[in-house]
Amino acid sequence: MSEDLNDLIKDCVHCGFCLPTCPTYVLWGEEMDSPRGRIHLMKQHAEGTPMTPEMAGHFDACLGCMACVTACPSGVRYDRLIEETRAQVEREHEREPDDRALRELVFALFPYPRRLRALRRPLRLSGRLRAALAPSLERVNPSLAAMATLVPPAQRRVRLPARVEARGARRAVVGMLTGCVQGEFFPQVNAATARVLALEGCDVVIPRGQGCCGALSVHSGRAEQARRLAKRTIAAFERAGVDTVVVNAAGCGSTMKEYAELLAGEPGWASRAAAIRAVDVAEFLAELGPAAERHPLPVSVAYHDACHLAHAQGVRAQPRALLAGIPALEVREIAESAICCGSAGTYNLFQPRAARDLGDRKAERVLETGAELLVSANPGCTMQITSALRRLGKEEIPVAHTVQVLDASLRGLGAAALIGAGRGA
Ligand code: SF4
Ligand code: SF4
Repeated sequence: MSEDLNDLIKDCVHCGFCLPTCPTYVLWGEEMDSPRGRIHLMKQHAEGTPMTPEMAGHFDACLGCMACVTACPSGVRYDRLIEETRAQVEREHEREPDDRALRELVFALFPYPRRLRALRRPLRLSGRLRAALAPSLERVNPSLAAMATLVPPAQRRVRLPARVEARGARRAVVGMLTGCVQGEFFPQVNAATARVLALEGCDVVIPRGQGCCGALSVHSGRAEQARRLAKRTIAAFERAGVDTVVVNAAGCGSTMKEYAELLAGEPGWASRAAAIRAVDVAEFLAELGPAAERHPLPVSVAYHDACHLAHAQGVRAQPRALLAGIPALEVREIAESAICCGSAGTYNLFQPRAARDLGDRKAERVLETGAELLVSANPGCTMQITSALRRLGKEEIPVAHTVQVLDASLRGLGAAALIGAGRGA
């Protein structure tokens, strides 16, 4: 471990303020499954203790949700610590063959939109049929069962043009990240993002050939794959001539904001990474200020804080303000909003049981709000909470992204169209 990371470890003063917001500590009450405990293990490893399977297990069980970063009064950079530690786990820990095979499958599939697209045909099976198959799959492999229940039914493909012109006076020119999971499973969110940006006076540049931003890889310690995907993404936006990139998936936004750190050791790339300004769509629209008319939407919404938006990017107020700016719309808070829903990138595939417990807990908190619509700004959270609501056997609550709600208001579609839009997600 570098001197730099040793310094980061020393920043922890063992106060324990982070413990109540750590989902794994909340679930199991084990010190070694808390941020403080994991930092202690990192210290032991830095001092020469080999990476044991137990140690790797405690690091694998961390969701990387960054609730501890928000809670820590000493400013401990747990995000950097766990990212480096995960890379060490990948280098030094020999995984069981089935775990290794599952990881290879996931990382050969999810960061590649074309391969994900090939999955669309078998996924035409309805969510209910896949849920019915889940118990048998669970006996074979809980991760496969999680995959079957999480992925939403295939949506109609949306082909976005390379450029969407601003409506009315042009106020900005921005790039838009389409993403891998967002692009393939939630194309309607990308379409709504482009429409809202254009209605608010932005030319939207959507480069062809952009793919995964590297978020899934970076959050799983696959630094080399992450760097390769980051460089390809940077080059795609450079070719398109835009330096501000609007992102509508929380995990992707937090990774793109850290490109300069990810590529710091690569001559030539660090400055190119720093020249790209990634910004979350809610953050960008709040900064830009409203221009288009908001039509009333009489609907109650429960707003879900995605960890990589709230904890990793500090974006909490902007989406709430955008929603509150819609006439007749009521925003309701979800209890325990700082606790992760269990999605956490690929966590719900690799740690399906813990993820399921957290998903059920979140679904119950969502239902307690009595809201008609759940708003989530991350595709992983949307899939995770939808699947948990289905598992609880409660009436499904429609789920929409913040930009889909805005889109419905700006186009005067009415609440019924919006509530219908989330069904079957
Ligand atoms: S990132 Fe989340 S799960 Fe991991 S130690 Fe911090 S609070 Fe706990
Ligand atoms: S990570 Fe921060 S909040 Fe948690 S024990 Fe260390 S200093 Fe305290």
